[in-house]
Amino acid sequence: MTDNKRNSDTFRIILLGTGSPRPNLERHHPAALVQWGEDRQMLVDAGDGVVTQLLAADIPLNQVHNVVLTHMHWDHILGYPAFVWGSWNSGRLKLTVTGPEGTSAMHHQLVESYYQEQAEWAIDLGFPRAGWDDITVRDVPVGWSETIANCLVEAGPVYHPPMHALAYRFNYQGRSLVVTGDTAMCDELTEFCRGIDVLVIDACAAAPAPDLPPARRQLIERLHEFHASPQDCIDIAAKAGVAKVVLTHHLPGVTPEFDALDYAGEVVIGADLDVINI
Ligand SMILES: [Zn+2]
Ligand SMILES: [Zn+2]
Repeated sequence: MTDNKRNSDTFRIILLGTGSPRPNLERHHPAALVQWGEDRQMLVDAGDGVVTQLLAADIPLNQVHNVVLTHMHWDHILGYPAFVWGSWNSGRLKLTVTGPEGTSAMHHQLVESYYQEQAEWAIDLGFPRAGWDDITVRDVPVGWSETIANCLVEAGPVYHPPMHALAYRFNYQGRSLVVTGDTAMCDELTEFCRGIDVLVIDACAAAPAPDLPPARRQLIERLHEFHASPQDCIDIAAKAGVAKVVLTHHLPGVTPEFDALDYAGEVVIGADLDVINI
């Protein structure tokens, strides 16, 4: 269980899900919670299992008032409707959701469009209208930024065709964190990460095990067009002068392999419920 004691210096990320689309018990779909100061936090992505993992990390669901989404691939949003419902049912009264182009349409289709009637029924039953009707959802471009309780949050570039996709940078008390979401190698992302303290990055494109069936090998090899390899992640971190790189978005049963001899920083193989201080 996470030690939830916080003060004004707190700045950390809890890895809620470090897996990839293929479900497995060890690694949930991508999601993380960034916490700063005494009580602020922001959910980054909401893959399947996000509600369970928030509860496992001892996070009160009604206290999560901000969500940023990196892109609309299923493994990053399957848990989103569950989060909206679960947090509202737990007493959440406000929510702001930010993401790339397609975020508002996703919210409309997966939440409002299908569940509005059930929400009206729940409101009639006594649930507050706040927290359902007045959820703010906005599509933002690269370059968007907002300061929330002294933390500057910025949207940056990644390369994950054909999706609209964003990385997010958090700057708090002179310390900084980037969470990339999914991305292949990308010079603009490297620039966005220059000099940061912690980089949490997609390392999905690991080399396939030689004993896999050829069709599965081919699929995994093609992932490199859309995802960074573990070595790409180390190279980005080295080039950008990142102090600590955290590899995530792991395929089941794959151990990331890389050569970090030329990287002066620290490498962490992220695991579900890891807490990384910034
Ligand atoms: Zn993706
Ligand atoms: Zn993904």
